[in-house]
Amino acid sequence: MRTLASDGRPRVADLHEAYDRLEQAGWAKTQVAEQVLASGAVLPICAYTSGPQAGRVVIAGIHGREPAGAIALAQYVDRLIQLGATRSILLLPLLNPWGYHRHQRYGPSGQSVSDSDHWLGRAAEAACPEAKAITAYVMEQVDLAPCAAVLDLHEDPVYEAPGYHFEGRGSYLYATGTGAASHPVTRRVAAYLGNSPIPLVMNGVTRFGETLNQGMIVDSEDGSIDELLARKRGCTPVITTELVLKEESDPHLAVRVAVYLGLLDVFFED
Ligand SMILES: [Zn+2]
Repeated sequence: MRTLASDGRPRVADLHEAYDRLEQAGWAKTQVAEQVLASGAVLPICAYTSGPQAGRVVIAGIHGREPAGAIALAQYVDRLIQLGATRSILLLPLLNPWGYHRHQRYGPSGQSVSDSDHWLGRAAEAACPEAKAITAYVMEQVDLAPCAAVLDLHEDPVYEAPGYHFEGRGSYLYATGTGAASHPVTRRVAAYLGNSPIPLVMNGVTRFGETLNQGMIVDSEDGSIDELLARKRGCTPVITTELVLKEESDPHLAVRVAVYLGLLDVFFED
């Protein structure tokens, strides 16, 4: 089933087929939640782990108009299998397949699928069924090493917001967690992006009113799963990367995927 996007992204089934090669290589697969299309087709939301006490976590596909991370991870499966032979990795590669398929930011309930405000004391209830299941998984089920490093691959489709003008072209990142801003992994990621074809925008204000400092926003309180992992699971650094999209295919998807493939190498370098 082809997606409703026009950027040439693969089908959801193609991505799942790639991720499932991890399971064939011995990784454990857990279905955390599911979403259902109007056709009745069920889209599973899965987690993959290469072993206990994950020291590295990679997340992608939370927002449906930000496909580059989920696609890069599908193309990175062979390398993940190699890395997973000696290290413990948690992969949450496509947390919003419904949004990816429909080219919409949020899930079917119109809410962020990994909203964590109910764990952070800001909401009484989970924002939607996926948020309830995904956050319960990372809080109660998954086994993380102390200070596990997290990389959450986003994009910033500024064209979604009429009236918002972001002057810069390029990328920026969030760093959350104890010592995250000056952590060697954060420095490496920032240096890589700075020299990439989608370079860091050093100064500016995001559409969420956050001010960039040297391309970075430190310790954001945005209710995301990244804030949750930093504050309630002790992860650090939790790095959220954003590639600014002026239009659906500006920059082109292939360029964004290539930048994220290189970023994965940098994240796993040590
Ligand atoms: Zn996003």
